[in-house]
Amino acid sequence: MGDVSRETSTETKRTVRTAADFAEHGTSIHDDETETPLARAAEHSILARMDASQRPAMPRPDATRIFVVANQKGGVGKTTSTVNVAAALTQLGQRVLIVDLDPQGNASTALSVDHRQGTPGTYELLVEEVPLADVVVSAEEVPGLDVVPATIDLAGAEIELVSVVAREQRLLKALRQHPRVGDASSVGEERWDYVFIDCPPSLGLLTINALVAGAEVMIPIQAEYYALEGLSQLLKTIDMVRAALNPSLAVTTILITMYDARTRLAAGVAAEVREHFGDQVIKTYIPRSVRVSEAPSYGQTVMTYDPGSPGALSYLEAAREIASKGVAS
Ligand code: ADP
Ligand code: MG
Repeated sequence: MGDVSRETSTETKRTVRTAADFAEHGTSIHDDETETPLARAAEHSILARMDASQRPAMPRPDATRIFVVANQKGGVGKTTSTVNVAAALTQLGQRVLIVDLDPQGNASTALSVDHRQGTPGTYELLVEEVPLADVVVSAEEVPGLDVVPATIDLAGAEIELVSVVAREQRLLKALRQHPRVGDASSVGEERWDYVFIDCPPSLGLLTINALVAGAEVMIPIQAEYYALEGLSQLLKTIDMVRAALNPSLAVTTILITMYDARTRLAAGVAAEVREHFGDQVIKTYIPRSVRVSEAPSYGQTVMTYDPGSPGALSYLEAAREIASKGVAS
C-alpha cells in the first residue's frame, strides 16, 4: 500500500505526464493503481511492447472526425504529430486517412509512400478534381492507415487555385464524395474514423481548404520561447473561416511537442499554453526524443520504429486522449 500512496501523491503534485513517468513506472502495475495516470502510463508501456494487433481497441467515433493539423510556423511538429498520432490510432483499432497537404511531402516520406513528381496525389485532387478514391494509397508500414501523398507539384496549387471556382471548397468536396467519409448509418463499418490533414507552414489557400474541410483543428506547439507568437494570426484565420465558410470549425486539440522536462523554460511555456487554451491542451506532452526524429529516415513512424520508446508511448497516450474526447464531427 505504501507504494500506492506514494504514487498517488506524485500524481496530485504533477498534472502532466512526461516520458520520465513512462520510463520510471514502466514495469510496476497492480490492480489498486489502475485508475491513476501513472498506472495507465505503465499499462501503456506494456501495451506498447506488444504486437500492435494485441492492443485493446478503443471505441470508434460514430462518424469520421476530420482534423486539420495547422500552425503556420514551420518545424513545430505538425508532420511528426500527424503521422504518429495517426499510426497510434490505428494501433487502437481505428481506421485513419492522412491527407498530405504540404508540397514538401514530409508525411508521405515518413510513411514510405511514393511521392515522386507525377505521382497522383493532393495536387490532382485539388486542382484537377480527380476523385479521392483514385489518389489514395495504403501505408504499407502501418495497417489501417491510408494516405493521399503530396508531390512538389502541390507547390503550384496555391497559385493555380486562385482562379478556380469554389477554390476554398475543393478538399471539402473531395472528402464528402468519398464513400468512406461519414457516419455508420450512411457509409457503414468501412468508414474512416479519423482524417488528418497535414498543413504546410503558411495560411494560404491550401490551409484554407483544410480549414473548410475539417471540423477540428489540432495545433502542435513546440515548447520553446516565442511558442505563442504568430498563433494569433492562425486563430484569426480560423475565426474568419468559421464565420464565412465553416461554422462547425473548432480548435479542439493543442499538442505540446518537443517538451524537455529538464528545462524550466519548457514548463513555463507549457503553463502559458494551458492558461490560454485550458482543456483543449492534451495532458500528455510529447518529449523531445532522438527516436522520434530519426524514424522518418527509415520510412517509419516512431510507433513502429521503436514502439517502447518514450516518444512512441507519449503519442500513444495522446492518441488515447484524442479518441476518448470523442467529439463527433
Ligand atoms: P512541421 O511539420 O511543423 O514543420 P516537423 O514535424 O517536420 O514539423 O518537425 C520538425 C523537425 O523536428 C523534424 O526534423 C522532426 O524530426 C523534429 N521533431 C519533431 N518532433 C520531435 C520530437 N518530439 N523530438 C525530437 N525531434 C522532433
Ligand atoms: Mg510538416
